[in-house]
Amino acid sequence: MRQNALLSGLVVMALAACGAGEKETRTSPEATPNTTTGEPARIEMERLSDIVKVLASDEFEGRAPGTPGGTKTVQFLIEQFTELGLEPGGRDGAWTQAVPMIQTQVQSPATMQFSAGGDSQVLEMQTDIEASTVRPVESIAINAPVVFVGFGAYAPEREWDDYGDIDLRGKVALFLVNDPDFAAAPDEPVAGRFGNRRMTYYGRWTYKFEEAARRGAAAALVIHETKAAGYGWNVASSSPGKNLAVVAAEPTDDPITLQGWLHGDAAATLMASAGHDLDELRVRARSPEFEAFELDDVAFEADLAVTVDNIESSNVLAKLPGSSRPDEVLMVSAHWDAYGLGEPDAEGRTVRPGANDDALGTAGVLEIARVLAAGPPLERSVVFAAWTAEESGLLGSEAYANDPIYPLEKTVANLTLDILQTAGPARDVILVGEGQSELEDDLARAAATQDRVVTPENLPENGLFFRADHFSLARGGVPVLLIMGIAGGADLVDGGREAGDQWIADYIENCYHQTCDAWSSDWDLRGAAADVELFRLILDDLGNSQRWPKWKEGSEFKAIREQSAAARPSM
Ligand SMILES: [Zn+2]
Repeated sequence: MRQNALLSGLVVMALAACGAGEKETRTSPEATPNTTTGEPARIEMERLSDIVKVLASDEFEGRAPGTPGGTKTVQFLIEQFTELGLEPGGRDGAWTQAVPMIQTQVQSPATMQFSAGGDSQVLEMQTDIEASTVRPVESIAINAPVVFVGFGAYAPEREWDDYGDIDLRGKVALFLVNDPDFAAAPDEPVAGRFGNRRMTYYGRWTYKFEEAARRGAAAALVIHETKAAGYGWNVASSSPGKNLAVVAAEPTDDPITLQGWLHGDAAATLMASAGHDLDELRVRARSPEFEAFELDDVAFEADLAVTVDNIESSNVLAKLPGSSRPDEVLMVSAHWDAYGLGEPDAEGRTVRPGANDDALGTAGVLEIARVLAAGPPLERSVVFAAWTAEESGLLGSEAYANDPIYPLEKTVANLTLDILQTAGPARDVILVGEGQSELEDDLARAAATQDRVVTPENLPENGLFFRADHFSLARGGVPVLLIMGIAGGADLVDGGREAGDQWIADYIENCYHQTCDAWSSDWDLRGAAADVELFRLILDDLGNSQRWPKWKEGSEFKAIREQSAAARPSM
């Protein structure tokens, strides 16, 4: 196979030679010789690069779930894990876990508009609005009043209720993005109620759609703002009219009929014609006294045709069984999917190859598997997961957490790689979700062995802690750790924090979820390899430990973990 030839005969490049300052760790087992070179197995940049080069090639068509490129990706990963000598990690000796999904696509032309008084404001899909449905219906017809719900948070534990007595049934809920205090000045009454700059779950669009559904709304639209969302309109509108959802084993609340984003300019126009000022409403919505209100004489109208497809995709799972406590599981994961094919860019490219996001993380998982498989067995099992459909809303990991192959209460930790930076070695590693779990102390110890330090993410308002697959496991109580190369500029050996921030700014602006997220021979993978090595060090340590890292005081996931404490030996 082409890819296997690619992965053989590589030049061994130890990290130590690359300025990452790596040293032998206190907990590593005796170095295990690499069979061909006599050197200990290490995370190798060449291998990371070669795996990404394959996964991000045109042949894989951007790895969208339910496409030939997706199928090819799953086959490639199975071949890789097989070659590394791992065992299938699914049920009954399977390498995969099926993830059945429903895909809906709003057909174009899609007609939507606001009518305010006698005037109508036409909404162009992808320019003014991005709207899709999770319902398997062939048509959608909405003509309903519009309710501005502010941030739409119902948070009794924070003494906050944006809804009051308003009845949302059958109506269209219009939300601000993020949570009520992210833009607040320190002296505003709301400051600190929602974690200050740190985004709480109330700030995520997923929460907003869930809350709208609980209240019987027909539709929910979130007003896009780049800073508050953490990404631009190009990202929010990159898959117009398309939605993918896991087929739930037990259907819960009826989902809303239509959901999506409204461009900030379109929202400002709407508010002006309804006699309001959007900027003024943004300030008002930060007040504890704010209550949702219906816009006078305004309706949202949609008349849409929808195609519905059943899609079957798969998570890929492999394992190294533990030598003495195999039922205690450490999990390391990344998502194999990317954005598939899109509109041609200026150079005519249509494949959105997701090279940094997250072919590189997936390559990291494979490299950790290779290095651990070459070493002595660990006492605990290590499960390697490559999730599908992360980009469609963390669906593969959600499906796993709904139906875990290894009980979540005996899963020691989940370590997730999602986007690694390719700008070179760094003096630090960025921590997402500071204060959540004791795993951040594990990360700090591992980083210290590389003469690196841990720096908390600099944009906690972006809510990255809720935007990667580790969150699906966290919801089930599993302590998690995420390394995400866009969580904050690393302090690069070459150029410092400024260069790290610049790399992220360029990546988000030009490449994130776009055709430009491609493999490059110019990548400097020393920093990425060092980050992958951090996870290997943590796995090595926890793999022979009886320790069960805990959630920290104040974490929203602590209580759920404690409910299952009886399932774990006390240590
Ligand atoms: Zn990703």
